Amino acid sequence: MENNPCIICVAITGSVPTKQNNPAVPISIAEQIESTHESFEVGASIAHCHVRNDDGSTSSDPEKFASLKEGLEKHCKGMILQFSTGGRSGAGLERGSMLSLSPDMASLSVGSNNFPTRVYENPPDLVNWLAKEMLKYNVKPEIEAFDLSHIFQAVKMQKDGCLKDPLHIQFVMGVKNAMPVDKQVFDFYVKTVKRLSPNATWCGAGIGANQIVLNEWSIKAGGHTRTGLEDNIRLDKDNLAPSNAALVKRATELCNKYNRPVASWQQARKILQLPLKNN
Ligand SMILES: [Zn+2]
Repeated sequence: MENNPCIICVAITGSVPTKQNNPAVPISIAEQIESTHESFEVGASIAHCHVRNDDGSTSSDPEKFASLKEGLEKHCKGMILQFSTGGRSGAGLERGSMLSLSPDMASLSVGSNNFPTRVYENPPDLVNWLAKEMLKYNVKPEIEAFDLSHIFQAVKMQKDGCLKDPLHIQFVMGVKNAMPVDKQVFDFYVKTVKRLSPNATWCGAGIGANQIVLNEWSIKAGGHTRTGLEDNIRLDKDNLAPSNAALVKRATELCNKYNRPVASWQQARKILQLPLKNN
């Protein structure tokens, strides 16, 4: 990998933050397209997407995902589109109802853990069904590792033929009641991925004030990273982030600090072994 470019993923909306928390959180499809476009222009090459209803409540409506996909393909040509199948936007099979749209990628949780106020349930039958749908519609999963066991489970699923090789694994740290932000655990995650699945790619995401911490650890350690208003609405203790693009910019500055070129969408597609589109 020449110069080891860093892929920046922008998680634009999520299921939790509201306009009351930060007016820059994009809720309507039009706002999402605009916010993603700004982020794309400053260096994000993956857009991690959830959709919302007009009142801001969570949704997993495939029609909304379809219009978002259409808008992003038009305005952010080449950008990698990643849809969430996370459990905050729907229940059971609803969570995979948008996979038939064949986005480039989708998030996939392969095990359960606690979330701030509840259990984040990912029972094996649901996980296997989501993985099968991703194979069927040629969607590359991003494994959400909220725990060390999730890395082992992803590798096992890949060996069993339920997930394609190479894996892309994201370490999520700092969700309340789940894995805290801990450097030794982070280093062990990286080591474990390299040991169990040497050709896997990996990415780090931190929640709240720890977003920048995980950005820095991941960039420094040669991985990829995620930013955006889904995980964090502030620039620092006193200031709200003015946009998703401002958070992307912050990650690109860390790339400069550690001599990591920011991956273009073409480089990101190559690194993740996704097809280059003719556009
Ligand atoms: Zn998400």
